[in-house]
Amino acid sequence: MTVYDMHTHSTASDGVLTPSELVTRAKHRGVHVLALTDHDSVAGLTEAEQESQRLGLHLISGIEISVTWNRYTIHVLGLDIDKESQPLSVGISALQTVRAQRAREIGKRLERLGIDGALAGAQRLSPGNNVTRTHFCRFLIQTGKARDEKAAFKRYLGPGKPGYVKVNWAGLEQAVQWIRDAHGQAVIAHPSRYDMTQTTIRRLLSDFVDCGGAGLEVVHGNCGPAARTQNAELARRFGLSASAGSDFHDPDNQWTDLGQLATLPPDLVPIWGRFKAHTATPSALGRR
Ligand code: AMP
Ligand code: MN
Ligand code: MN
Ligand code: MN
Repeated sequence: MTVYDMHTHSTASDGVLTPSELVTRAKHRGVHVLALTDHDSVAGLTEAEQESQRLGLHLISGIEISVTWNRYTIHVLGLDIDKESQPLSVGISALQTVRAQRAREIGKRLERLGIDGALAGAQRLSPGNNVTRTHFCRFLIQTGKARDEKAAFKRYLGPGKPGYVKVNWAGLEQAVQWIRDAHGQAVIAHPSRYDMTQTTIRRLLSDFVDCGGAGLEVVHGNCGPAARTQNAELARRFGLSASAGSDFHDPDNQWTDLGQLATLPPDLVPIWGRFKAHTATPSALGRR
């Protein structure tokens, strides 16, 4: 059986492994087809591709785009993208500007709470120069301001907390268009993690389909059997292909490690059936 993982992070965003280390770990943990999907960045893809070729693993070029939809922040994965795509690069640059401005504002807010040097600290922890809240979270833990991730988000970085800065990310239609311009497949990431009612999530998926979205992450890290059943139901209802991804960030977090995802319900259409390599050579995505 071919093992797929369509959602992972490296040091190009908030993962702790470099792209090469990530690919090596995936290989050792039995993943055959791996997508690197860093937040608003394709900077890790070249290194990941090189290491994948060396180790004989199939790498799918990906990205996880931050989107603002009806005042919710949601994440849209772009899978099997052309990482050189111009419209996508322009979109990414705009999001990086938003990220950098937000990071400065988070730094200021934390300073007002008496926490000095948070911006510089978060930047130091982000070798890819792509500062996320995870980097602030790690800074807060290292400096003893929070016990663990959960506490850092609960006290400082989560919605409504003093270090939370609301920003406008990409629009849903815009993000899907960037992905389509890059000849990729747009997939709604971790649907069970948004704090949405069923009515709202259906509205989101209906809009997503109207924009040309292709898939739903039915199986994701930290998602139990009940959530999987619900996601599968949504994929069927909206005619979306199904994806599976760990959302791996960190080897110390065993809940979302590589190569241990549940399989997709057999009646769903896997998103990888839509990938270019798949149509070109059906065996290209299999075990190599
Ligand atoms: P950002 O895109 O910079 O707002 O950062 C979002 C990232 O923060 C997510 O991709 C997660 O990796 C992490 N994150 C968000 N909420 C939590 C949480 N409650 N606990 C731990 N990590 C979180
Ligand atoms: Mn993350
Ligand atoms: Mn996400
Ligand atoms: Mn992710």
